[in-house]
Amino acid sequence: MESFNELNISKQMQYAIADLGFEKPTPIQAQSFSVIMSGTDMVGIAQTGTGKTFAYMLPILQDLKFSKETNPRVLVMVPTRELVLQVVEEIEKFGKYASIRVIGVFGGTNINRQKEAVAEGADIIVATPGRLYDLVVSRALQLKAIKKVVIDEVDVMLDLGFRFQLTNILELLPTKRQNIMFSATMTDEVNVFIHDFFIAPTTVSVAVSGTPLENISQFAYAVPNFYTKANLLKHLLQNEKDFKKVLIFVPNKKSADLLFDILDEFFGSEVAVIHSNKTQNYRIRSIENFNAEKTRILVTTDVMARGLDLDQISHVINFDVPNFPENYMHRIGRTGRAEQDGTAILLYTEKENDAKESIETLMDLKIKELDFPSEVEISKQLTYEEQPQVVEINNPNNMEEVGPAFHEKKEKNKKENQGGSYKRIIKQKYKKPKTRGDKNFRKNKRGK
Ligand code: AMP
Repeated sequence: MESFNELNISKQMQYAIADLGFEKPTPIQAQSFSVIMSGTDMVGIAQTGTGKTFAYMLPILQDLKFSKETNPRVLVMVPTRELVLQVVEEIEKFGKYASIRVIGVFGGTNINRQKEAVAEGADIIVATPGRLYDLVVSRALQLKAIKKVVIDEVDVMLDLGFRFQLTNILELLPTKRQNIMFSATMTDEVNVFIHDFFIAPTTVSVAVSGTPLENISQFAYAVPNFYTKANLLKHLLQNEKDFKKVLIFVPNKKSADLLFDILDEFFGSEVAVIHSNKTQNYRIRSIENFNAEKTRILVTTDVMARGLDLDQISHVINFDVPNFPENYMHRIGRTGRAEQDGTAILLYTEKENDAKESIETLMDLKIKELDFPSEVEISKQLTYEEQPQVVEINNPNNMEEVGPAFHEKKEKNKKENQGGSYKRIIKQKYKKPKTRGDKNFRKNKRGK
């Protein structure tokens, strides 16, 4: 789209846009405007930096007529205090042209001052879910006039564990309302959330564009299970010369911790992990070390990796196959940046083959298959999720027939054994020093 004139934007808004120096709408703005104006529910898939804030604010502001109503008519929920401030600031840029009353509320600050601000009346309230809920419960804020609700960065909110608060708030809102949601990544959790609260939403997506596929060499290995994937990964990462800066994507926090433990045992301080259960300080340190090339390998979940400015990644390794092909594009887009060459490797099991094919269809490209290296051990060990599930819970005598899973040790006991034997094999193969078990190894390394 060449200019904002092509959208049905009011004169007033056009002046404001010209003032901001914006020449034409970004793709997400061009696509969202008429959908939001039409009043249907909308799901937008877009990352920060695509202009997504104005993508929802432009049509909302244009539609917001002057009113003496004290209670807010538009609610914007975002996951962090920083985003509250940022969104309020963006809205205020339009203040010169339309008298919009906007208030930002977030936790960690004095609630009484926010109560006073709310009592004065507002058109738009921008909030983190926890504080918003507190204000509603204490009756400082009424939600009965809300006509439109925007939930921004839903993936981050759900990953931070805000589902409960979000659900509570949505249930307090008038049923007749427009729901607008933005997420950078589609996850199963986001999908369930949409299903629960949205009515026939229109999806607008700009996630795929801009991934520099031509700079990225893509490879895939067929691997039978999690622990064999870990074995292959360890084998590949031995090659320090090529695997200079490696970002490894895993599907969730649990896999992140499990894989980190396995890699940590072998690569020690070369590897770090980030996910939303780690403290902020830990995450910041992990990212700083990775950027400063103090750690070579970073294990991450999709949601945590977004928003990170990571440069010069030599390899992106997909430890699982994302169910939503767009997420694969996000992941591999972390390498091959700024004209540099990058490599993306996908490890997939038989079960994940369909998801891999969806990705190939989306890219219109077949990922080059590499032979599984014969020297890598194929593990028979299965994670809890990979084990055959037992349906017959009432008949303990039948357990014998269920399969190998029942004869094995509990998950937490298994991990140690696997590590020990593996370490011995690998040590013979690569003559690498032990990192865990040899208690002095790290101490000495650090002490130097
Ligand atoms: P966002 O993705 O909403 O965080 O926006 C990223 C940045 O792009 C913000 O600093 C906006 O002010 C800016 N921006 C939004 N829309 C446009 C546009 N149409 N043209 C140029 N810059 C824009």
